[in-house]
Amino acid sequence: MNEPSPSSIARKPSWIRSRLPGGPAFAEVRNIVENNRLHTVCQSAECPNMGECWARGTATFMILGNVCTRACGFCAVATGRPTELDLDEPRRVAQAVALMKLRHCVITSVNRDELLEGGAGVWAATIRAVKEASPKTSLETLTGDFKGKKELLFQVLEARPDVYNHNLETVERMSRAVRPQASYERSLQVLAWAAQEGAVTKSGMMLGIGERKPEISQSLRRLHDAGVQILTLGQYLQPGRQYLPVDRWVTPEEFAEWKAFATDLGFTSVSSGPMVRSSYHADESVKLVPGFEGVSLKH
Ligand code: SF4
Repeated sequence: MNEPSPSSIARKPSWIRSRLPGGPAFAEVRNIVENNRLHTVCQSAECPNMGECWARGTATFMILGNVCTRACGFCAVATGRPTELDLDEPRRVAQAVALMKLRHCVITSVNRDELLEGGAGVWAATIRAVKEASPKTSLETLTGDFKGKKELLFQVLEARPDVYNHNLETVERMSRAVRPQASYERSLQVLAWAAQEGAVTKSGMMLGIGERKPEISQSLRRLHDAGVQILTLGQYLQPGRQYLPVDRWVTPEEFAEWKAFATDLGFTSVSSGPMVRSSYHADESVKLVPGFEGVSLKH
């Protein structure tokens, strides 16, 4: 493989495009988020798709506060020692989901490693509150690894999210640099436990952060073996100077090749493209899973 020159990395290729924020649906999402004093990963992680997703009338709520106890090398969410545990947050998330009339909704969280139960109780309360307020809404949860504590993961699964998502993020060799407080094997174990419990399981990886092609295929095999059904692959974008640099720009053609590879492996649904993120068009990804055919973004 040819090594890209630093100047070719600094220039974003033409296929990395963001829609400018704006429009009535965008404003409505922003009002609902602000009025309910909620956080979204769209804002906190500076997601490049915010203009597009919010204009579709959706957002990904981020619970357990806005400060993460981990310091991943790719993630723009603020790191530190959180001070709040907002027990009213589940109610407000449920209210926002109902106001947005979401038929499929995605919720994620920061890691709360300082809490004995890692925030699993708030996770379970949020799932239950959303299901009670919006019984026809399918709910996708994107959680951390709960330090590999099975009983905490099961607290979340017992609240019965419709899709359980935990991102592997990168290949084994890059894991320490990308997620110093997580582990490749632990993430695969968490996903395997969720799949063994019968959850529809989803995971994703960023490409272009330093991995090589044989490592990608090995990771996709491991994810499939763990029981993951829904896969997302997207281009890593460096959120600021202090984060890991982009190693290469993966072309749309290569993303299409990985989609074909993963589909051949047996994943039920594969979203693979430069701008794909875990929650990007999640309603469309889940539609391909048996039992979810009727899912749409809104009621
Ligand atoms: S891709 Fe996900 S995180 Fe990004 S703007 Fe869309 S919903 Fe938010």
